[in-house]
Amino acid sequence: MITNPAQTIRHHLANQAAPAYSLIRKVCACGKASTAKQLAQHGKCATCALAAVRAAIMPGDFAKLQHMLGAVQGKRKNRWGYRNYYCANISGAAREAMQRLADAGLVIAGHESETQAYFHATRLGCKAAGLDAAGIKRAMED
Ligand SMILES: [Zn+2]
Repeated sequence: MITNPAQTIRHHLANQAAPAYSLIRKVCACGKASTAKQLAQHGKCATCALAAVRAAIMPGDFAKLQHMLGAVQGKRKNRWGYRNYYCANISGAAREAMQRLADAGLVIAGHESETQAYFHATRLGCKAAGLDAAGIKRAMED
């Protein structure tokens, strides 16, 4: 490949003109390298952002999120996301867990009847549950 100095300089100047949206490597408070864009949007690297989400919910909530997506031990990882719903009684512990997950942006409320409420994982919820890109696509498709 022949390098083009003029192009390199243009790219460099473009990066300097829009630092928040460039891919200049920056460092998160945890010491891990991240991008300027990620830090501008979330204030922390992707790992720290996920850790903050997990800290905002209860341990049992996370198991419900994984169950909702079929992301459980014994299920092959390439099937995770084959389902994406959780049916909770209209009141009770499961509903409260779903509300915490919703407040954290991991699930959204769906159909609700007089006795039951359905919830579905968001893209962020899928990521938090450990789904890869293919799993997220599966979970979001229906
Ligand atoms: Zn970090």
